[in-house]
Amino acid sequence: MNCHAITPEPGAGPETLRTFSFGGGVQSVACLALAATGRIDYRTFLFANVGDDSEHPATLAYLNQYAKPYAADHGIELIELRRTRRDGSTETLYERLTRPGSRSIPIPVRMSNGAPGTRSCTADFKIRVLAKWLKAHGASRANPATVGIGISLDEIQRANNKREEPHERIHYPLLDLGLRRADCHRIIIRAGLPIPHKSACWFCAFHRPSTWADMRRDEPELFERACYLEDHLNERRAELGKDPVYLTGFGKPLDKAIPGGQLTLLDGHDESSLCDSGRCFT
Ligand code: SF4
Repeated sequence: MNCHAITPEPGAGPETLRTFSFGGGVQSVACLALAATGRIDYRTFLFANVGDDSEHPATLAYLNQYAKPYAADHGIELIELRRTRRDGSTETLYERLTRPGSRSIPIPVRMSNGAPGTRSCTADFKIRVLAKWLKAHGASRANPATVGIGISLDEIQRANNKREEPHERIHYPLLDLGLRRADCHRIIIRAGLPIPHKSACWFCAFHRPSTWADMRRDEPELFERACYLEDHLNERRAELGKDPVYLTGFGKPLDKAIPGGQLTLLDGHDESSLCDSGRCFT
């Protein structure tokens, strides 16, 4: 594998690994286009796929139809990584979520009072997967890798350096260039690429109500699967004597929280702002 590294000055120590954490959304694709045209210095993009059954289908379709061919045409590596168990088998987030007998819920569901529950999905299925690859390719506390993340100026609150791991130095190329989400759209269009779907798992409880309403209208089968999943999680919780949890903050099942045939005017939050690790929704 030909990973991009900066050639060190004589006597400056080992090479520094330099990768971009590709989320599959607008900001990441804009960074891919910026790298392809030499405006940012990244030649290795890493996509931590949390599962073909978990990522939004449109994100995976875009990855395979547009992002990978575009990267290959421009001599950029776009590498797909997956979480593996100790025995080498692959685990998806959906599998973990629906594992029989599981007592915990790894995704950011809302508790009955609307408060967000704790989540382990981003850490287990993105951060650790990327860390494993970086360490296997030479990143260490003594020689941290430079890791680019696509956070634009309008989401600057997500650029939280405190979450940096010892083996990495986070870099936000869109902030350096002063680019906003609207600029990213222009960059993608200029590169001849379509605008990607917002990248996140289809069942992510960080979705704002309008995202769920769009899904109910445009992707009714996926919406139904999300309702079924929420029911399934609550059946399991009821067996354990626990309160129900929900995929929205409305304190009721998704099917009732997001009624069909009407626009949701009050969105409440910006979904990407809730995911402060910067590894989802980019
Ligand atoms: S998109 Fe949501 S459910 Fe998926 S890994 Fe990120 S926080 Fe978890």
